[in-house]
Amino acid sequence: MTHIHNTEASWLDPAVVEAALAGATGDAARIREILVKARELKGLNFEEVAELTCIATDELRNELFATARYVKEQIYGRRMVLFAPLYISNVCANECSYCAFSRSNKSLQRHALDMDEIKSEALHLIDQGQKRVLLVAGEGYSAAKGGFQYVLDAIAAVYSVTHEKGNIRRLNVNVAPLSIDDFQKLKAAEIGTYQLFQETYHRPTYAAVHTGGKKTDFDWRCTAMDRAMEAGIDDVGLGALFGLYDWRFELLSLMQHNAHLEERFGVGAHTISVPRIEPAQGAPMSDAPPAVVSDNDFKKIIAILRLAVPYTGLILSTRESAEMRREGIELGISQISAGSRTNPGGYGADEGSLAQFQLGDHRSLQEIVQELASTGYVPSFCTACYRMGRTGVDFMDLAKPGLIKRKCDPNAVTTLLEYATDYGTPETQAACNVAIVQELGTMDEKTRRNAEKMLKMIRDGRRDIYC
Ligand code: SAM
Ligand code: SF4
Repeated sequence: MTHIHNTEASWLDPAVVEAALAGATGDAARIREILVKARELKGLNFEEVAELTCIATDELRNELFATARYVKEQIYGRRMVLFAPLYISNVCANECSYCAFSRSNKSLQRHALDMDEIKSEALHLIDQGQKRVLLVAGEGYSAAKGGFQYVLDAIAAVYSVTHEKGNIRRLNVNVAPLSIDDFQKLKAAEIGTYQLFQETYHRPTYAAVHTGGKKTDFDWRCTAMDRAMEAGIDDVGLGALFGLYDWRFELLSLMQHNAHLEERFGVGAHTISVPRIEPAQGAPMSDAPPAVVSDNDFKKIIAILRLAVPYTGLILSTRESAEMRREGIELGISQISAGSRTNPGGYGADEGSLAQFQLGDHRSLQEIVQELASTGYVPSFCTACYRMGRTGVDFMDLAKPGLIKRKCDPNAVTTLLEYATDYGTPETQAACNVAIVQELGTMDEKTRRNAEKMLKMIRDGRRDIYC
């Protein structure tokens, strides 16, 4: 690993992206060749991804989707990781024309939760059965609140909450870009993944939609993952906000970003998120985004990413409707949020007016677990990898030869049984039991024996068992 201090995202090259898009032929034979290659589960190169973005016929699109379903099934089986966001503050010093938290939005009531309020939210999340949480905040932690220390204190507050049914075991974080020093503090606070979306990789569009605050600095944001990784955070989550600029351009730029991280640090993104702009109070642009992504194109984005980076987790949030989430899960999504609130204090209150954007899926965690389990999925609350130190290159070294399944599968059924026992209604418990038995049937002998041993420990009253 080289320790150069990149201040400019020179690896991002729009001319290369545009040339690849212009050079893509849409030729059916070439596309089918790429789909055959994708079934080897080794990912796709830049030019191949560009070709797939040109798929225009229903026939080829269906073949793309069938390939994505195959790759998803091979690598992730029926597991689906669940998490919930925890919004700690909607105070923000930036102006992002799509976001309700923009500082000039007077229609939004502002609130930064204090540590007692954060602990209370954590308790509500634990009460629902959540184990994995994504902490989210606006940018601009005021000096009065202790600056960035506020976020560090919030993390410690969440981890400090214990309850008879357990605690939050993994806290991922989505906050504004930091200096290397602050990233080191974030690492020391024992976060899981550091997540940050570039929003758009197209500089002119970026400048047009970010008109105030530190976020106007495109390069500071685009180089954030370099600083995070230099600081030792080796699981990072990329994303683009779809709807700001041509999705094909964003997808290929995401590939450039991922390739840069792989080249420089030996490991690319741990996750990629695919947020689509949703209507946000006091942010008129969010009602009519400049480059709307249709449902069909959105499904293509998910499928292409699944083929391009098969071992990278793909995250879909409750921004999307229940129907789109069902389809996204089939095509490649491996993590979804469930039972979410996007307003600070939202778990302890009625759905409020401080929210960042409108939710598309209002179902509770229990409803989502039950639906997933009764449609053949295995909802997973697993937090084993980062607690066992299987992060960054070590994670990918296990994932790429397919060995990680021997850990993920037992951990999924074990955390599901724990959820069903501690929180499930009789219907949820019945659906989970069927899903667990089905999943045991797909495991090799040794993995199944291990899973059965772990399940027995849960039945005997033990908790937080993982391998
Ligand atoms: N303030 C930090 C930042 O901007 O990176 C982190 C938190 S911000 C609330 C998290 C993400 O929400 C943003 O990166 C953006 O992609 C997304 N977001 C903002 N407005 C949205 C909207 N109207 N619809 C969907 N996602 C939105
Ligand atoms: Fe603030 Fe982030 Fe919303 Fe922009 S997207 S206004 S930085 S919270």
